[in-house]
Amino acid sequence: MSIQQKDKQFVWHPFTHQLTANPPINIVKGEGVCFFDEEGNKYIDAISSWWVNLHGHCNPYISKKVSEQLVQLEHSIFSDFTHEPAVTLAERLLQHLPKNQSKIFYSDNGSTAVEVALKMTLQYWHNQKINKTLFIAFENAYHGDTFGGMSVGARNVFNNAFENSLFDVAHIPLPTKENINEIKEVIQVWSAQHEIAGFIFEPLVQGAAGMLMYDADCLDELMLLCKENNIITIADEVMTGFGRTGKFFANDHLKNKADIICLSKGLTGGYMPMGVTSCAQFIYDAFLSEDKTKTFFHGHSYTANPTACSAALASLDLLEKEETWHQIKMIEDAHQQFKLKIGTNSKLNDVRVRGTIIAFELKTEEHSHYLNNASQSITDFFLQKGVLLRPLGNIFYILPPYVITKEELSYIYSSIEEFLK
Ligand SMILES: *Cc1c(COP(=O)(O)O)cnc(C)c1O
Repeated sequence: MSIQQKDKQFVWHPFTHQLTANPPINIVKGEGVCFFDEEGNKYIDAISSWWVNLHGHCNPYISKKVSEQLVQLEHSIFSDFTHEPAVTLAERLLQHLPKNQSKIFYSDNGSTAVEVALKMTLQYWHNQKINKTLFIAFENAYHGDTFGGMSVGARNVFNNAFENSLFDVAHIPLPTKENINEIKEVIQVWSAQHEIAGFIFEPLVQGAAGMLMYDADCLDELMLLCKENNIITIADEVMTGFGRTGKFFANDHLKNKADIICLSKGLTGGYMPMGVTSCAQFIYDAFLSEDKTKTFFHGHSYTANPTACSAALASLDLLEKEETWHQIKMIEDAHQQFKLKIGTNSKLNDVRVRGTIIAFELKTEEHSHYLNNASQSITDFFLQKGVLLRPLGNIFYILPPYVITKEELSYIYSSIEEFLK
């Protein structure tokens, strides 16, 4: 049996309509921005494999560091024990995170990083015997596929089946200069009437919603209002972290810093699953008590896996190099230029850029964007061009590893121009 046949027999894929999906492409090698399939076809990974890869596939430096870790300590329990990679990673992440962040809590992926943030927030209030349990989140938000993550996320086809099991959340629209005052009034009314525990948001770019972008100024106003009203602010930087928006973290575009920050995706450079939830000292302090019931009772078997920590440390080494930031700037400039060139194309509703992300919204008759039929034809066209550009319905985007060259970007841009013809 071929790998595809065995795949069909034994495997269930994520986010995949198993009945109609094309047989998956069997990838046998990764190198730099490219994947190679069993027939030797090459694909440029223009979406960094679901937004995780920063420094290219099989990056020699990260691979070496991970191999070294694997023969030193592959894993150890993280209660009552610690290890140097986890401690050093926490120390180094805090050097880059906003100054108000002071503790690092490890987990396994983006959804768990969010889950931890929600639980920390609820228990922060609970430990002080303050009854605050309602979260505010943005319409269209995506915060992962666990129940907490789904609850604070948009209600849509992804979670219809679970609607009765999700907790209630107050959803607000993305802020603009036009609606910001209205949103602020609503939050003020709610915070007088309800007990609002926290506000969770994807800063500046809502990824899964279709790379929807909004202003730092508007978000800053909402964060200030939350601080004034004693609402914990949670920045879900699972996608926006580690240079994606042109700065180290999206929080770096803001004057008001979040109290809790969720990280994953780029954290290990795309090598290993890992999540981080960082928090400000005042959050941590609410769990420090003689009373043992105030302990944060949360953990995962693989918490702070040393091998994943070593990948994250190696990725940080590369992120701290000046040439990585030249690349990030080069990608942003190239995206801006391409936007100028293509922005008025009659087949597009919108082209938007933030940092290393450029998104194109295709005009279509259909409204539901996730199940949009345009999606498959976009995927197929670009695969045939040797470009992996998995769209979000009628929205497609480039979110490349930072090692991509100008030439590779130009190739993707010209494939897009061809697609629009
Ligand atoms: C991808 C994503 C998540 C979920 O992360 P997983 O590792 O897929 O569980 C959460 N929040 C945001 C903003 C994301 O982009």
